Amino acid sequence: MSIDFISDELKELKDRALLRHLRTVEGPQDSYIQVNGKSYLSFCSNNYLGLANHPRIKEAAIEAIHRYGWGAGASRLVSGNMTLHEELEKKIAEFKGTEAALLFPTGYVANLGALCALTGKGDVVIGDKLNHASIIDGCRQSGATFRIYPHNDVCHLETLLKRHASFRRRLIVTDSVFSMDGDTAPLPEIVEVAGRYDALIMVDDAHALGVFGQQGKGMIEHCNLHGKIDIIMGSMSKALGSIGGFIAGDRNLIDFLKNKARSFIYTTALPPAACAASLAALELIRENPSLREKLWDNITYLKSRLSQYKNAPAVQSPIIPLVIGTAEETLRVSEKLYQCNILIPAIRPPTVPAGTSRLRISLMATHTTNDIDRLIEAFEKTGALIVAV
Ligand SMILES: *Cc1c(COP(=O)(O)O)cnc(C)c1O
Repeated sequence: MSIDFISDELKELKDRALLRHLRTVEGPQDSYIQVNGKSYLSFCSNNYLGLANHPRIKEAAIEAIHRYGWGAGASRLVSGNMTLHEELEKKIAEFKGTEAALLFPTGYVANLGALCALTGKGDVVIGDKLNHASIIDGCRQSGATFRIYPHNDVCHLETLLKRHASFRRRLIVTDSVFSMDGDTAPLPEIVEVAGRYDALIMVDDAHALGVFGQQGKGMIEHCNLHGKIDIIMGSMSKALGSIGGFIAGDRNLIDFLKNKARSFIYTTALPPAACAASLAALELIRENPSLREKLWDNITYLKSRLSQYKNAPAVQSPIIPLVIGTAEETLRVSEKLYQCNILIPAIRPPTVPAGTSRLRISLMATHTTNDIDRLIEAFEKTGALIVAV
């Protein structure tokens, strides 16, 4: 058996402008990052509030290392369950307004673990076409029947619910903020239709935590849907600038997942210092609404700067997709921006559907209006923004 297929496939990816490579960041994550010894203005991290390099969070992590060491040593159920895991779970539940919460090493495996534990053969999971890859992988691995509705199409969702009424369990799953499009799900309508067809709802709130809601608690707070979402998934790796995923919900749900979610049971617990960092981040978000306000000021400012262009994307969150089309052209624009010392990687298939390759701009609270002006200027140079006549 020859492994030539690997070089063949790599070559094919390269020929189709779909080959991916890693770029090395040589310093901390911030609005300016160091690459190849040069400083680049970054519009491509999920570190929306700039917390990944915040002094108070670094301090909290260091203090936790002094007190608890670095590694957790084992899975939670064996001996890795430490004070800080429980403190963080309590804090997340409080933040999300649920009875309990359960930590996972990442958001990816939180989705995988929950979906596979909650559904299986005889059940149907119905999800949005643009759901995050971790949801899709969870649905596929669960063994449940998996149905997809066109993006945000609640009418079609209702048709699918009707069509699958005889299944043992129906679970609707959606991102709250879509990770590659930055738009939001019609959660109130989804809740309404779920009620009528006796379906469970799971919401992936990864990009909304720290960004949406009066107190930054996420999309459920923003839409006033407390107690209406059965399973809330979130991640500490986005606005919290940390690492780890979670599921929040009723105490029973959490006890069930502790017993059934394989990606919780068979993996090592998060390092306690990571939990300390997430705890500090949640406190900062609670104490400093100005962080979130600054982010939204930047969103509003970019939106106004974009409005004069014919191909201005919709702006609903810190994620703003400028759809270019082909992978080749998107790479070209991305490389041109790179030459202007601006970092926005090309997002290409299979992350997004073919023909919709894009530059995914993401904003941070720590960007200045001057940074945003520089972005617009650079975009004009690439020809990616078309001036309206
Ligand atoms: C990033 C992301 C995840 C995965 O979270 P990690 O903690 O990075 O593994 C899940 N869902 C959505 C919508 C995301 O954007």
